[in-house]
Amino acid sequence: MDRHEKAGEDQAIITLLLAAQRSGLNRGTSGNASFRSGGGFVITPSAMAYDRMAATDLVAVDSEGLSTGLHRPSSEWLFHQRIYQHRADVDAVIHLHSPAATALSTLRLGIPPFHYMVAVAGGIDIRCSRYATFGTDELADEAIVALTDRRACLLANHGLIACGDSVNQAYQLAVEVESLAEQYLLARSVGEPVLLSEEEMHRVLAKFGDYRSTP
Ligand code: 13P
Ligand code: ZN
Repeated sequence: MDRHEKAGEDQAIITLLLAAQRSGLNRGTSGNASFRSGGGFVITPSAMAYDRMAATDLVAVDSEGLSTGLHRPSSEWLFHQRIYQHRADVDAVIHLHSPAATALSTLRLGIPPFHYMVAVAGGIDIRCSRYATFGTDELADEAIVALTDRRACLLANHGLIACGDSVNQAYQLAVEVESLAEQYLLARSVGEPVLLSEEEMHRVLAKFGDYRSTP
C-alpha cells in the first residue's frame, strides 16, 4: 500500500492533532502521530506547530528507516518504527503529552483497574514504561515492553502512546486513556480507589470483545 492509498490518514493526522491542541489534550509541538504505509510508515515532522502543518509536511519512513520528505521525521520515529515491526495488529500510533497521563507518568504509576474502562486498552491495566531518554532506541524497547498485549501505555516522565487500526481509532483511545488518568488522579488525591478484581476485568474484556464486534 503506498502513501496515496492512505490519503485519508494523511489528513486525519492533521485534523486530530489540531483537535488535540484545541481541547488541551496536547500543547505546543509535543506529541506525534503516524500510520503504517507500505513496508514503513508516514509520520509527523519534528518540532512543527500543528496549526502550520499540512499533509505535504508529513514524512515517509521506509522499512530501512530512511526518510523522504521536506522535513526531519519526528524525533520519536524509532518507537513508531519498533511498534510497526513488533505489532502486526497496529496500523496507527499517536503519542501525546496530555496533562493527566503525563502527571501520572511522573509518579511512575500506570492505571490499575480502578474503573472497568481500563479494559479499553486491551488488558486488565494500562502500564507505565520504565524511563528512557526521548528519541532513543532504549525508549523504543521500553515502549514495546509496556505495550505487551495492550494498545496503550504511559511513558515514564513523558506522556502516553495509543495505537489503533487507524489514526482516528488511536486518537479515540488516547482520549480514553487521558480521561482515565484524570479520574484516577482525582480519586488518588482523596484516597485509595477500590480496584476491580482480575476476574471482573476478564469479564469486562470478554464483554468488550462482543461490544466491539457489534456492527
Ligand atoms: P517531535 O516534535 O520531534 O515529534 O517531538 C515531540 C515529542 O513528543 C518528543 O517526545
Ligand atoms: Zn514526547
